[in-house]
Amino acid sequence: MEKLLIELDIPVRYVKGVGPKKACILKKLGINTVCDLLQYYPRAYQDRTSTTPIFRLISGERQTVKGHVIGYKENYFPRKGVRLQKVIISDGLGKASLLFFNQPRISRLLPKGSELFVTGRIRRFRREIQIYDFDFEVVNKRMKIHTNRIVPIYPVTCDLQRVGQRMLRGIMKEALEQYIPVLRDPLPNSILLRYALCDLSFAIQNIHFPLDKPSFKKARDRLAFDELFLLQLGIGLTKKDRRKQKGIAYRIDGNLVPRFLSSLPFSLTRAQMRVIDEIKQDMKSSYPMNRLIHGDVGSGKTIVAICACLISVENGYQVAFMAPTEVLASQHFLALKDLLSKLPVKIGLLISDLKKKEREEILTQIERGEISIVIGTHALIQEGVTFRRLGVCIIDEQHKFGVMQRGALIEKAKGLSGGVPDILVMTATPIPRTLALTIYGDLDVSCLDELPPGRKKVLTFCRQEEDLPKIYEFLKSEIRSGRQAYIVYPAIEGHEELDLKAAEEMVRKLQKGIFKDYKLALLHGRMKTWERDEIMKSFRKKEIDILVSTTVIEVGIDLPNATVMLIEDAHRFGLAQLHQLRGRVGRGDYRSYCILVTKKGISDLVNSKLITEEDTNRKAIKRLQAIVSTADGFQIADRDLQIRGPGELFGVKQHGRLRLSVADIIKDVKLLEHARREAFSILEEDPHLDKNQGLKKTFDYYFVGRLELAAIS
Ligand code: ADP
Ligand code: MG
Repeated sequence: MEKLLIELDIPVRYVKGVGPKKACILKKLGINTVCDLLQYYPRAYQDRTSTTPIFRLISGERQTVKGHVIGYKENYFPRKGVRLQKVIISDGLGKASLLFFNQPRISRLLPKGSELFVTGRIRRFRREIQIYDFDFEVVNKRMKIHTNRIVPIYPVTCDLQRVGQRMLRGIMKEALEQYIPVLRDPLPNSILLRYALCDLSFAIQNIHFPLDKPSFKKARDRLAFDELFLLQLGIGLTKKDRRKQKGIAYRIDGNLVPRFLSSLPFSLTRAQMRVIDEIKQDMKSSYPMNRLIHGDVGSGKTIVAICACLISVENGYQVAFMAPTEVLASQHFLALKDLLSKLPVKIGLLISDLKKKEREEILTQIERGEISIVIGTHALIQEGVTFRRLGVCIIDEQHKFGVMQRGALIEKAKGLSGGVPDILVMTATPIPRTLALTIYGDLDVSCLDELPPGRKKVLTFCRQEEDLPKIYEFLKSEIRSGRQAYIVYPAIEGHEELDLKAAEEMVRKLQKGIFKDYKLALLHGRMKTWERDEIMKSFRKKEIDILVSTTVIEVGIDLPNATVMLIEDAHRFGLAQLHQLRGRVGRGDYRSYCILVTKKGISDLVNSKLITEEDTNRKAIKRLQAIVSTADGFQIADRDLQIRGPGELFGVKQHGRLRLSVADIIKDVKLLEHARREAFSILEEDPHLDKNQGLKKTFDYYFVGRLELAAIS
């Protein structure tokens, strides 16, 4: 009977030749079942297809020869107690010795005249050509697995390196012979045809023992497709599930939004109007909103979010407005209080260092429904604050959270609202499309792809430390004409104490020295919220000229009067971080500057646009070149991905039982898009996969429990 791969959920001992001992070794590699085994893919391959004549062998290389046995020699080293057996082979034009240790019966195993393939390391000893560290196979009709082909190299632990490879290849060959013939393909034929994908049997066979390079590529693409397809199926189901839930159908014809918008000193961008409209449609409908607003720094996401808040409030529901840090939460609080001062909406801030009494007071007001918009960090939801009627959750700068956390957040929120609240997620880190489809694949996406008019490009320069005195003079001239500035120092992870000292010392030095006639203040992550608030407030009131900071001001801080962002040791910042930091200036009508200060060697290379591949600072130089040359967040995100590679940027590693072991989320964009289209269209017609039992079983196997995605780091 034909079986799905996952139905081979039977002990690996069923494979011929696997006894208790081998089963035990396999278990150490995490292989318990035949299904595990067949999905234990090689980590690499060696091409041992072509053979080399013995007289052409090169010392130090790993090469493959074909020859027959013509004789034996034995040396005995009594002091080491080692017997060295040599099997002499010839290919008619040359002779070579295969070196065996302590295998007296080797001549019986390899009788004279037997023909062999050997792949091993070559060494010349006097006039003798020796082959050691080799794999060999007798030439006969049976399929070769160690030599004369593209050979799989499996991931094994160190202690298994030598025997492990041979053993695994042997076991794998048996397993393939036994089970490939009964394998059933879970994917509908129509999909295979549409994308010219090979069938599963061919794929499994050729991922282990590729016939040739094109076959390997076909196998890889098919298995990658499967991984992405299952992932998208999971995302599609999550999305559909949410649609099925009954949400709140708000009335959207109230007057709070129009009153709010007409109170603003500016008119909305077209992008803002469009997105507000999309939100209104979501809120009006009876299914819950799950929307992501994606927009570069300064594109005006807050205004859009406030509109969602107001609709909720007007319909008698409360809003949880969550920011990733308390600094940002406090800032949102101030901004909202200001923006909504003329409207009958009560706002509350809930953060950790409130006095006990204050906190209780606020909690009661939330519970009674007296506070309509509650601002805080995501602890708001996690700690189970009781709302009277929660309608909307706003999650700002959510790239800090993962889908899983978001899922948990939504679950919690449901508990609090007695229904399914609307979710609005906002992110300022533009992410490449392929990542978006995976990380935010379950959300509807709105893009604020337009900056408010009049924004001037932030002039960005890379300078060396020696230029600092001049740069400081420049800061002074800006301040004298009424502007303000930031100076940012990098934070080294795990060295916050030291960083803090460095920043503290710098402030003192600058304040006493070059900036003695100006007012400086320090802002850092270790401060109490109220302390930070005080500082932000006085910075806002222009009582402070220069805000010196570690990276706490990275996200969200909004102050149009600040025009200079001076970043010291800029080579130590990530690209997204630099972009965020630069986004703190150029928010008003004034010409703004971002000055990146780094070591002379680096700044010279950044500015010369030259770069040598071996340079140890290569990545840093590329980052700085990118930030100097473009202001477009999407381009920067792409560059970031290129420079860092997906591995570093990206923590989407495991999803339930599904591992993306073959697929590469970044490089397989095309496959990802195809997989998504097919997965979604299948769900459209067959929402419970009733007509696709094979798929359903496969899916259920991989997604035991809930769909889990890790966060991007
Ligand atoms: P972000 O998208 O980075 O969160 P904000 O919502 O903080 O951006 O908005 C940045 C600044 O731009 C704020 O001071 C805000 O008041 C202002 N702003 C928002 N929309 C507009 C607009 N349409 N025209 C002019 N200024 C705007
Ligand atoms: Mg913002």
